[in-house]
Amino acid sequence: MSYVKVSQLAKRFGDVTVFEEIDFTIEKGEFITLLGPSGCGKSTLLRSLAGLNQVDAGEIWVDQENITKTAPQSREIGMVFQSYALFPNMTVLDNVAFGLKMKGINKTEARAEAKRMIDLVELDGKEQFYPRELSGGQRQRVALARALVVKPRILLLDEPLSALDAKIRKSLRQQILTIQRELNLTTVFVTHDQEEAMLLSDRIFLMNQGAIVQQGKPEDIYTKPANEFVASFMGHYN
Ligand code: ADP
Ligand code: MG
Repeated sequence: MSYVKVSQLAKRFGDVTVFEEIDFTIEKGEFITLLGPSGCGKSTLLRSLAGLNQVDAGEIWVDQENITKTAPQSREIGMVFQSYALFPNMTVLDNVAFGLKMKGINKTEARAEAKRMIDLVELDGKEQFYPRELSGGQRQRVALARALVVKPRILLLDEPLSALDAKIRKSLRQQILTIQRELNLTTVFVTHDQEEAMLLSDRIFLMNQGAIVQQGKPEDIYTKPANEFVASFMGHYN
């Protein structure tokens, strides 16, 4: 069985169906990109995996465990959003250590592990800084360290690069990939940017209007689009 298995997943808000009949599997260590235009349901699907949205139908399995109804904090999933949800009144070290303290790990141990993650994202020396003293790219690296510190089974990234300027975006993109490979971390990355998806992914799940319209390796999606939507969405590769 695959490491992650999602079957017949559906989510509605009132009368509005955001997605339905979503099916996919992900192998351990794969880098998957959910790619699609704004409003197609990427964030809602990611939040459903994280447990931040309840789903209306279907199942989510991780490592042979049905987590469809599991509380978010018990899913062992790390998440990074577009805008850094850091605690403004906490230092970098305390922001990163927070998740471990919540799990009851003692302060000394939590700080030592947090320090290791801060080194991993190449922010050593910034431990005592506050978020406001950091650049946008640095804040996203703190958010990444904070997501990784609890050793999640899956890392979910919702447009983590979108708010950054081009140069920072490229370097952080590479850094995310390096860390993902190093940790063999099963990752679902959300973007509306085809170039990002092409460069990062083992496989792309291309979404449109609440459905995954094609799943495959970047080169296959690019060279063998399943329909006109895929062709036109992938066609402007810049
Ligand atoms: P994407 O991330 O691909 O841009 P979203 O998942 O944010 O798309 O949104 C998909 C659709 O679901 C949109 O039509 C959006 O308006 C709707 N939606 C998302 N969250 C909510 C909510 N909390 N209540 C009502 N509608 C929502
Ligand atoms: Mg979104």
